[in-house]
Amino acid sequence: MAERVAIVGGGFSGLLCAYLLEQLYGDRVEAHLFEEADRLGGRLRTTSLPEVGGDYEAGVAELYDIAGNPHLRDLVRHLDLETRRLTGTPFFVARDQIVRDDRDLAHLLGARGIDQLRRFWDEGTRLRPPERYAQAGQPHDNEHPWSSRTFEEVLAEIEDPAARWFTAMQCHSDLAAEPHQTSGLFGFDNLLIDHPDYCTMYTLSGGNEGLVRALAERVRTPLRTGAAVEAIEANDAQGLRVRVATAEDGVGTLDVDSIVVTLTPPALAGVGWSDQRLASAIDAHLRHHDHAATYLRVTLLFRRRFWDDRFPEDYFVSDAFDGVTVYDQSPTREADAHGVQSWLLGGEAAAQWARRRDTEVVDAVRAAMPDALSDAERHFLTGVVDRWEGPRGVSALPGGVPLQGLETRHCPDRRWPQLILVGDYLYDSTICGALDAVLWAVTRIGQRMGDATPDPLSVFSRPAASGPDDPASGFFHDQALGARR
Ligand SMILES: Cc1cc2nc3c(=O)[nH]c(=O)nc-3n(C[C@H](O)[C@H](O)[C@H](O)COP(=O)(O)OP(=O)(O)OC[C@H]3O[C@@H](n4cnc5c(N)ncnc54)[C@H](O)[C@@H]3O)c2cc1C
Repeated sequence: MAERVAIVGGGFSGLLCAYLLEQLYGDRVEAHLFEEADRLGGRLRTTSLPEVGGDYEAGVAELYDIAGNPHLRDLVRHLDLETRRLTGTPFFVARDQIVRDDRDLAHLLGARGIDQLRRFWDEGTRLRPPERYAQAGQPHDNEHPWSSRTFEEVLAEIEDPAARWFTAMQCHSDLAAEPHQTSGLFGFDNLLIDHPDYCTMYTLSGGNEGLVRALAERVRTPLRTGAAVEAIEANDAQGLRVRVATAEDGVGTLDVDSIVVTLTPPALAGVGWSDQRLASAIDAHLRHHDHAATYLRVTLLFRRRFWDDRFPEDYFVSDAFDGVTVYDQSPTREADAHGVQSWLLGGEAAAQWARRRDTEVVDAVRAAMPDALSDAERHFLTGVVDRWEGPRGVSALPGGVPLQGLETRHCPDRRWPQLILVGDYLYDSTICGALDAVLWAVTRIGQRMGDATPDPLSVFSRPAASGPDDPASGFFHDQALGARR
């Protein structure tokens, strides 16, 4: 009999899990995927501004190509997705000065500041060689001297206040957390995103949501959208069971052999867990892993891309909101085309502004426009706010401190090793970490079925699967990926 697997959540992790289970184990697995929302994709969301019809990234804006860790790049190639490299490092607007190179930075920070910054980076890169960065989130990170200190404590080693402030601001532009809320190691890892020996960035032509679309098109697994998993039950008599609520069919249950849960910690907390011991195990997991952080993406539409002569690159970092990355998401680079600017606010600034109305948030971002773009108001048309908080947010401290062994991290209750938790919050709060988590889960399911050494990465070196032949029984796609099987 086939191993019955319930996959909870239809974001990148859930879809990749369905795809890999099919590719690795074929008919030996019978999977069912349940997604609460009426669309697939979760925090990967390419959507459009009605005024221009042009797409922008509401969630994930950049994919990371980490030196020595080619897995995501291999998946993208396997799915035959076209990519475009992002440029913009280093490009800052700080204290209303534009910082493009060391000379500008020396002007901003002074000789002492620059010297201290160099020492900090020398020490940081010495302690974090690229090969360790490529394996971020693995238990050996506990040996790193900055893993058990906060980023605030580590920053305090930079005596020069301007250099310390600049480093905190730079980190904040990539991380939805304040220095005291995260570890020194995770803070520095976020700085290393800007270091070309460690990481480069790219997007997918046609939108990053193409990644989930490419997976969804290829799987035969039934993908149920509008299907919220309300409860996960485990007991000795019945095994594992999911209770699912849909608008059409009401509440139903499905008995399964394994469950892969791909929810964020706040979403996990919203699921009912039985029995009492399982509920306690999930509580313990949440105490270690729930470090919820907020992002606000504020996207501004302008009549034209008026900034090209001053900010020609794909993004820059501003010191507004304690450090924010501003992406150029204009549909084309033509001077007369509409301009789309997307500000990603994180940490406490995002949490505070999240309490305000959209118009107030948009106005705050307009007011934070650097002096170099003082003509912005002449071109401004409208703005939208995408809120990423609570169950849709990210983790400020992925993996928690100390990092747990992988078995404990993924399987919260030893009695039920086939109940597997997956998510970026377990590794590094990015798609790369979500991918690592899925690889672990599908390997575990193969081992349960008796395979000695399942090799999920081997799938990425084969030609991609084609989608179901018979569209009538396959997954119907519309723009929003909301159709159901
Ligand atoms: C604003 C923002 C920007 C980001 N930028 C980047 C970036 O540039 N690069 C990068 O690598 N990463 C980025 N990330 C992180 C990235 O979004 C995640 O790593 C990735 O999307 C995780 O995918 P997932 O499938 O694990 O989780 P999700 O995408 O959150 O999917 C989980 C799914 O579960 C569903 N769900 C929740 N509860 C239930 C339930 N009870 N029953 C059924 N379904 C349920 C949700 O609706 C959701 O679709 C960003 C995150 C945010 C919020």
